[in-house]
Amino acid sequence: MTTETASFTVRRIGEAPAPSLPPFGQFIGGTFVASTSSGTTAVENPATGEVLAQVPAGTVEDVDAAVAAAVAAKTEWAAKTPKERSAVLLRLADIIEDNRELLETLESANTGKPAAVAEDDISSAVDTFRFSAGAARAYTTLGADDYAENHTSVIFREPVGVVGVITPWNYPLLMAAWKIAPILAAGNTMVLKPSGETPLTTLKFAELVAGELPAGVLNVVTGSGGVVGNRISEHPDVDLVAITGSVGSGQKVAASAAGTVKRVHLELGGKAPVVVFDDADLEAAAKGVRSAGFWNGGQECGAACRVLVHESVAQKFTELLVREVSEISVGTPGAGADVEIGSMISGAHYKRVLAALEDVRKDGHTIAVGGNAMEGPGYFIEPTVVTDVPAGAPITYTEIFGPVVSVETFSDDEEAITRANETVYGLAASVWTSNASRSLSVPRRLDFGTVWVNSHLVIANEVPWGGFKGSGYGRDLSIYALEDFSRTKHVMYNRG
Ligand code: NAD
Repeated sequence: MTTETASFTVRRIGEAPAPSLPPFGQFIGGTFVASTSSGTTAVENPATGEVLAQVPAGTVEDVDAAVAAAVAAKTEWAAKTPKERSAVLLRLADIIEDNRELLETLESANTGKPAAVAEDDISSAVDTFRFSAGAARAYTTLGADDYAENHTSVIFREPVGVVGVITPWNYPLLMAAWKIAPILAAGNTMVLKPSGETPLTTLKFAELVAGELPAGVLNVVTGSGGVVGNRISEHPDVDLVAITGSVGSGQKVAASAAGTVKRVHLELGGKAPVVVFDDADLEAAAKGVRSAGFWNGGQECGAACRVLVHESVAQKFTELLVREVSEISVGTPGAGADVEIGSMISGAHYKRVLAALEDVRKDGHTIAVGGNAMEGPGYFIEPTVVTDVPAGAPITYTEIFGPVVSVETFSDDEEAITRANETVYGLAASVWTSNASRSLSVPRRLDFGTVWVNSHLVIANEVPWGGFKGSGYGRDLSIYALEDFSRTKHVMYNRG
């Protein structure tokens, strides 16, 4: 049954300023150089369908040149003191901040995301660099001591070496910043491949910071996952590979990395349950899902996309949620600071989300609001709430990665916990309750790397971000990221 109640339109008033495009080439050894191939990939503005640029479809040889540059730069960068590396990272933060408008405009043009989301992305990226600059200096190892007779142990923390990084399209510059800042803070050099769909802000960042970083410390190679991403993963001189992306891509990266036994850092997909108990503040929970389920158009690995609500309050909660979602404003990036969701990232992803909505209809669920494609140009989809979802329905475990939230019900706490954990993903979850005992006990039993209580999708640089199970391993943000991107070495001195 379908009961679409609200009608949404794409607000298109206001022109977004023209984006300032980066140079197009591979950023290797501190400068943009031509790819070894003349092949290119079109980069689109998904809010208009217009082609913004053609970027090089990189090759194995491009990656090899970038890795060679990172290898050549690694001894000198690793030898810098934390204070020196920290000073560089603070300058990179200032450069992002000084170019905030340019980067926000470019990010929105390449992703269709609203101004409010682009602003948040850039502010968060600045903060990641500032946090990492401080963390680089605050990070010490255990003090030297004697653990065997006449022997003194010293534990050093060293960079891993050359780190390969592969980023997704949902927060292009922010996901790059989450890697670049701790990787450089820990003294590594790196080769980064942005998503083929959204390389523009990463290339722009490279252009802006080229004068501040020693040549070869950061290299950027554009191209496909199958060619460039795979070569980074298998390259014998890459010591660790980190990917933020889908589970399938993470599996491929880990398999390619196995040949050289390199370390792997995986930030993969999610399907975050939102467990709403009968004692919860239902209005707060509904507002929380409006914000955290639809932020970035739901193209968010921690999105509050799967509500499990106690059956006694399900009707009331659903009414509140449907009212909230009916009010969501959809628009182009230039259409105002109050636009909440923009277009889907690409035509291909738009088709994937619409196909998922077709499945929802075939599975006989109720579309309480939204559920449709919106008028073009651009790839817009209505904010959608799906109800009458039984336990085990595909929508409860499939990552749609769009503006779609489903609502299921449960009868008691045990069932809520079991069902919330019934997913291959383990990235994030939230619990909504006013009961102190539940707020302490339920999060401990949820198998997710982040659990919020009476909140969802609040992220801070001081605390780790990363998943369990199919969502991968490795931590972004916090001191734990610096730990992941470094290695310990024990040196033992015989004093006898
Ligand atoms: P994707 O897996 O399609 O692509 C991610 C990156 O992997 C891209 O750069 C792509 O080119 C590359 N890639 C693809 N195949 C590869 C291969 N064989 N070898 C090496 N690299 C390869 O993901 P996406 O569609 O860009 O992003 C959406 C996904 O990312 C979602 O599943 C989302 O949940 C996840 N994500 C996770 C986090 C997190 O922090 N856990 C954050 C953002 C996005």
